[in-house]
Amino acid sequence: MKRIYPTHTYGAGPRHSCWWDETCAAPEWPSIDENKQVDVAIIGAGFTGLSAALHLAEAGVSVAVMDAQHPGWGASGRNGGFCCLGGSKLSHKELVSRFGTEHAREFHQAEMDSVQLVAGLLDRLGIDADTHSHGETLLAHRAKDMHDLQKQAQFIRDEYKVEPTLIEKTKLRQSGMGGPFFGALTNPVGFALNPLKYLTGLAKAAAQAGAQIYANSPVAKLQPSSGGWCLNINGHEIRAENVLIATNGYSSDDLPDWLASRYLPTQSNVIVTRPLSDEELNNQGWTSHQMCYDTRNLLHYFRLMPDRRFLFGMRGGFQSSPSADRRSAQRNRRDFETMFPAWAHVETPNSWSGMVCVSRNLTPYIGPVPNMPGVFAGLAFHGNGVAMGSYTGKMLAELVQGHGVVPHVMQKPMATFPFGRARRAVMLPMYATYTLADL
Ligand SMILES: Cc1cc2nc3c(=O)[nH]c(=O)nc-3n(C[C@H](O)[C@H](O)[C@H](O)COP(=O)(O)OP(=O)(O)OC[C@H]3O[C@@H](n4cnc5c(N)ncnc54)[C@H](O)[C@@H]3O)c2cc1C
Repeated sequence: MKRIYPTHTYGAGPRHSCWWDETCAAPEWPSIDENKQVDVAIIGAGFTGLSAALHLAEAGVSVAVMDAQHPGWGASGRNGGFCCLGGSKLSHKELVSRFGTEHAREFHQAEMDSVQLVAGLLDRLGIDADTHSHGETLLAHRAKDMHDLQKQAQFIRDEYKVEPTLIEKTKLRQSGMGGPFFGALTNPVGFALNPLKYLTGLAKAAAQAGAQIYANSPVAKLQPSSGGWCLNINGHEIRAENVLIATNGYSSDDLPDWLASRYLPTQSNVIVTRPLSDEELNNQGWTSHQMCYDTRNLLHYFRLMPDRRFLFGMRGGFQSSPSADRRSAQRNRRDFETMFPAWAHVETPNSWSGMVCVSRNLTPYIGPVPNMPGVFAGLAFHGNGVAMGSYTGKMLAELVQGHGVVPHVMQKPMATFPFGRARRAVMLPMYATYTLADL
């Protein structure tokens, strides 16, 4: 596999001490140990691959999902658990200017549908994923951002047809959101969940519906074969008519070759505190269970979980190594203490990082892989794949069966980044620009 980060990124290091692993027993999945034939082979067992597997298996299609490590090992089993609108990095204005009003609206509907899809799956499959939060709250980190939040409130009303709530600075503390913020805007769409519990429930449901799920089964090669494709895994061959690429931030430049330079993995970093006492919560003035993020481009995301642990996340660095992980965790801790000074003494025993995926177009992609008939890909959720990855999996399942209608915005072919395998370099000016804009 040709990957653009060092081996460390794809090993146990970055996710060691992930809080979710302590909350949920991972089932034992078998690995590929013989040749097989299925209708659809899926590479990657995160939300995207497993949602595709579930929907295909429920439609009676024979399907096998392979993960190089184990289901949920990638971003899906180690994220912040915000099930919310998003998926693209383009603003509404940019979406309209690139795709037109109608297609921008179609994309917003897909964002809404994706949140609804996850809510429906949790309900239908009986998954208890410790959900909380009524929508998500955006906190202004500068006084001038309140003006933008007022405009955003109108946009939410017009485009998502739901009623947002603006909270003035003076009312934040009584809303349980005490901190260095200048006001807030709550969009009522979305909720928070334990991502690994959701993922494990999804995997078990897919298996129950007939999907074959394999751990420790890295796909080393994908080649054409008579009537479809042949995947080489652990020295065995899996033959399938269709193949779905669901590897997002853990993709390789040669699986398939088309992906080379078309995706950019970037790191996100999370810390979790021990449970906070009533006194500690009151000292900070933070008692809300809303999932929140701030108005920075390089945003912080945080939420008080049902067990009173506080989760706090932000972007990671450019480097990936044990020492780079330590630096990212320290930066995360420093920002946590700055934002919540009353908790400066509170331990954060859990700290981990993982890869999200950015595309040059700044929009997700769902569609065929050019010149590879029967192969489809779904990726690039720009750090918002809990809902959008689940939706993408369902869309991929429909495409394979010949009846999917992918929103226009997500059909746009993925453009290439400059600098080939050194393309991480584009993050330097990008992060510098964002940091300046956030001052
Ligand atoms: C720290 C962090 C916080 C985040 N917070 C949020 C959040 O709060 N809300 C939100 O919406 N999104 C969040 N995200 C993003 C979200 O987690 C991802 O967008 C989503 O999980 C992507 O799902 P996926 O199934 O497409 O990919 P992944 O879950 O990354 O799965 C890809 C899988 O492919 C496997 N794989 C790769 N290559 C091969 C191969 N050759 N053979 C077999 N298997 C292979 C990997 O082992 C991996 O398990 C966060 C991400 C991170 C890292």
